[in-house]
Amino acid sequence: MGSLSALFAPESVAVVGATDREGSVGRAILTNLRDDFEGRIVPVNPSRESVLGFDCYPDVSSVPDGPPDLAVIVVPPHVAVDAVEEAGEAGVENVVVITAGFSETGSEGAARERELVDVAETYDMALVGPNSLGVMSTPVGMNATFGPENAQDGSLSFMSQSGAFITAVLDWANDQDIGFKDVVSLGNEAVVDETDLIEHWGDDPDTDVIIGYLEGIDDGQEFIRTAREVTDDTPIVLVKSGRTDAGAQAASSHTGSIAGSDEAYEAGLEQAGVQRVETVQELFDYARALSGQPLPDRDDVAVVTNAGGPGVMATDAIGDSSLSLASFSDDTIDALQESLPDEANVYNPVDVIGDADIDRFRAAIDTALSDDGVGAAVVVSAPTAVLGFDELADAVVDLQAKHDKPVVACLMGGESTESAADRLREGGIPNYFDPARGVRSLDALSGYREVRDGSVDEPAQFDVDRERAREILTRAEDRGDNRLGVEAMDLLDAYGIPTPAGDVVDSPEDAVAVAHEVDGPVVMKIVSPDILHKSDIGGVKVGVENEDVYDAFEDLVTRARNYQPDADILGVQVQEMVDLDDGTETIVGMNRDPQFGPLVLFGLGGIFVEVIEDTTVRVAPLGRDEAEAMVDDIDAAPLLRGARGRTPADEDAIVETIQRLSQLVTDFPAILELDINPLVAGPDGVQAVDIRLTVDTEEL
Ligand code: ADP
Ligand code: MG
Repeated sequence: MGSLSALFAPESVAVVGATDREGSVGRAILTNLRDDFEGRIVPVNPSRESVLGFDCYPDVSSVPDGPPDLAVIVVPPHVAVDAVEEAGEAGVENVVVITAGFSETGSEGAARERELVDVAETYDMALVGPNSLGVMSTPVGMNATFGPENAQDGSLSFMSQSGAFITAVLDWANDQDIGFKDVVSLGNEAVVDETDLIEHWGDDPDTDVIIGYLEGIDDGQEFIRTAREVTDDTPIVLVKSGRTDAGAQAASSHTGSIAGSDEAYEAGLEQAGVQRVETVQELFDYARALSGQPLPDRDDVAVVTNAGGPGVMATDAIGDSSLSLASFSDDTIDALQESLPDEANVYNPVDVIGDADIDRFRAAIDTALSDDGVGAAVVVSAPTAVLGFDELADAVVDLQAKHDKPVVACLMGGESTESAADRLREGGIPNYFDPARGVRSLDALSGYREVRDGSVDEPAQFDVDRERAREILTRAEDRGDNRLGVEAMDLLDAYGIPTPAGDVVDSPEDAVAVAHEVDGPVVMKIVSPDILHKSDIGGVKVGVENEDVYDAFEDLVTRARNYQPDADILGVQVQEMVDLDDGTETIVGMNRDPQFGPLVLFGLGGIFVEVIEDTTVRVAPLGRDEAEAMVDDIDAAPLLRGARGRTPADEDAIVETIQRLSQLVTDFPAILELDINPLVAGPDGVQAVDIRLTVDTEEL
């Protein structure tokens, strides 16, 4: 599949299956195209001479003057694949398949869809759909959809996995004067998917913001890579709805039950620099701010209001956001004192009070925006007898342009704000009734500035012993069991993750020998793939003195036998004691998400993991910035950093362990899930004292 440029700017469009039958999809598309399209419109239908006044051709190859740039397919499903093949043979490079009745309808449809993909691949066609509402591109006036609404001109490019959502959004957006550059109904995404569009729009100078409604992302890894490049200069805002069946992957391990699929999306979208929103209103609030306003160079916001209460609402919203209320410089306060009456509040939020006329209001906004410590402003106004909303709107537009800092307006009122709202819109200033919405839009700008300022977080490549790791993993295969426990501890060693001294032994004599090599008392654990939670059955003995090691061995084996007589017992691990008084038990784990691949988890570990779910996930491979952010993310971060007189943990060592685990699970797709629990984080490094993993032996 080549460039998508001609899909959006075709010089000629064929409608295959065009008809003038009232109520038909073919007629709707032709009518929509006829409205505005600058290029040539060519109906194709073997049983008509002309349709809606256009000359009609029996097939695509008989269209004169070369193949059309785009073919829109509206024929019934059983002939749709043939129609696409004919278009391909005739040299058409872009097709939009409106026809439904493919994978969305069951196995027969799915087989038909595979044929469609084959044909598209054979002819190297960019194919949108099937089961699509169509595509629009306003610069060429193309509305190749069968929806009731056409888009207005604008700079947002919009994709949706739901066609119905597009018609609803356009209806609403037209009311709000929100314009679009391109609109795509993705349908079943047999060929062109969300990642292809993001890549295309990222290079499109006429697209300022990419927005979308997605229910699922097929290849999460590819999506993250592409979107992260694009978000370096084009913001992406998405509504992601619908959860995939988390049950499929809810395997037995801790990580399996904690890292649900929606968490994968949350993490993946964030790593991709995408701003995820919950509602349509937020989608367009963000999009409007991002397309009309500069990015703030700092997060300190000034609030200027003529009404106390709404000013407080704005201030509260700032408190709830990642922004902060700016503190003004002495000069700013002096200047405000000079221009405002005594009863006014010259500190942020600035209250110019209810009798303010436009000059007083304007002077206060101007002064606040002049302060170097102010990154953005919210102007809040209730209707008063002495102030016209129109003149306030003009002042806001002027002052925003003068200072080139983002400004949002909250003109609070109904009909009385309408013409002012138009003036603000023309000046690119977002306007809301509710101050909290205004503040959230500024927050979106600040969030995007962070994405843009951040560099792409390249994963580190540590020097590791990959061959040894592979050997250890194949032990599972040799044993005919895909679960590995502490007997695979040296896997961590091969990847440079510190583990306590010790060994797995199969006789009490050997246990004593190992204990003698290790300093001080030891920890002894039963080793069996059939015993997942060793301490639950009394299978972990902590602080065993040398003279007790022999008996402890026999006791552990007896306990395991009592618990499960046919348990496959591999032996007993004799392990050096790790200082828990000075360390915190954390968990580092991984499971695989069907869309995003390896999800790495970090959090509070040991017995806490089940009681307090204080964990965070990221998609691997991940770099140092993401690993650091994971440590930051958990609620217990202050504990690790020495809150309440605790000894601070070695954070660098945690961050490095997360990265090394990321490398391990990226190198070996055969590792399906893995937990290091606990990873004891002490003041001078970390120690992995327990491991459990599941291996797909076929993948090795
Ligand atoms: P399991 O999770 O199967 O019960 P672990 O090996 O994680 O078994 O041990 C359970 C708990 O015992 C750990 O969370 C930790 O508190 C303690 N423990 C295990 N190994 C050590 C060790 N080497 N040093 C100190 N404490 C340990
Ligand atoms: Mg454990």
